Amino acid sequence: MHCPFCRHPDSRVVDSRTSDDGSSIRRRRQCPQCNRRFTTVETASLSVVKRSGVTEPFSREKIAGGVRKACQGRPVSEDDLALLAQRVEETLRSSGSAEIDAYEIGLAILGPLRELDEVAYLRFASVYQAFDSLEDFEAAITVLRADRDGVDEGAQDAVAGDTAVTPGATSAS
Ligand SMILES: [Zn+2]
Repeated sequence: MHCPFCRHPDSRVVDSRTSDDGSSIRRRRQCPQCNRRFTTVETASLSVVKRSGVTEPFSREKIAGGVRKACQGRPVSEDDLALLAQRVEETLRSSGSAEIDAYEIGLAILGPLRELDEVAYLRFASVYQAFDSLEDFEAAITVLRADRDGVDEGAQDAVAGDTAVTPGATSAS
C-alpha cells in the first residue's frame, strides 16, 4: 500500500506481531522516502453474499442479533449469544472461503443453537427453512427427539410420540 503521508508506493515492514487471539497481524511499516512510520492490520477477509447479491462484511453482532430474536423469553444470556456468534465465525472461517453465502450462515447457526436451546432452534429453523405447516414442525421435532433419546430405541419412540408433538409446535410459532 501507498505511504499514507507522502503516497510513496512502497514501504518496509519494521515489526509485525500477531494479535492475542491469532486472528490478525499488525505490521509496523516505514516509508523509505519520508521515513515516517505507520501501522497496518491484516485480517482474513470474510464477507457475506446476501440473497440480493449485495456483499457485506461478516458481523458477529448481526449473527447474535438474528439469533436473539429466536431466543426471546428463553434462558439464553448475552454471553451465550456472543459465544454462539464466535463459533459460527470459526466454522465459516474454517471453510477457507473469503465469501460466504447467507444461506450457509443460517446452516452454521443451526448446530450450535440446537445445543443451546431447542425451542429457540425450532423458531430459528422455522423461519430459516421456511416451515409452512405443522408437519414441518413435527418432522423437525421428531429429529430432535430421536437424537435426544439416543440411537437405541429413539427412532421408534419419536414416531409413537408424534401426537404429543403439536403443543410444542404451537408454542414455537
Ligand atoms: Zn512516505
